[in-house]
Amino acid sequence: MPEVRGVVHCHAKYSSMFAVAHRPIPAGIDEFVIYIGGDVPCAPYRQSGTDELATELAALLRDRSAALMANHGMVCVGGSVQDALHTTLVVEHNAQIMWGAEALGGVQPLPEQPVADFRGVYEFVRSQMWGT
Ligand SMILES: [Zn+2]
Repeated sequence: MPEVRGVVHCHAKYSSMFAVAHRPIPAGIDEFVIYIGGDVPCAPYRQSGTDELATELAALLRDRSAALMANHGMVCVGGSVQDALHTTLVVEHNAQIMWGAEALGGVQPLPEQPVADFRGVYEFVRSQMWGT
């Protein structure tokens, strides 16, 4: 992925809660699709530091900017380290919101058309603006 010029890995509290539960963080807010590309998927558990974990993450990060590692934490990518850090903050902020929405009865999905439109914005930014 030559467009990726920055990576952030962390053990942020709310994102890690989803990782421990082996659940994706749902893209329940427009900005999440714009900056992340969609739900944040959770890679199956692989031991920290192994090539197997890297392979699982690389597959998930081809079409979005963040992925969870089961029982571990998250990894975010971007066009720069600053971009990847911004993505990390967006993911953690939204993980807290989705956790709260679950407590209120469940996350209601965004309609399909805005998701498709914002997904297009994400793909344009990643393909045309990252790495420039
Ligand atoms: Zn770690």
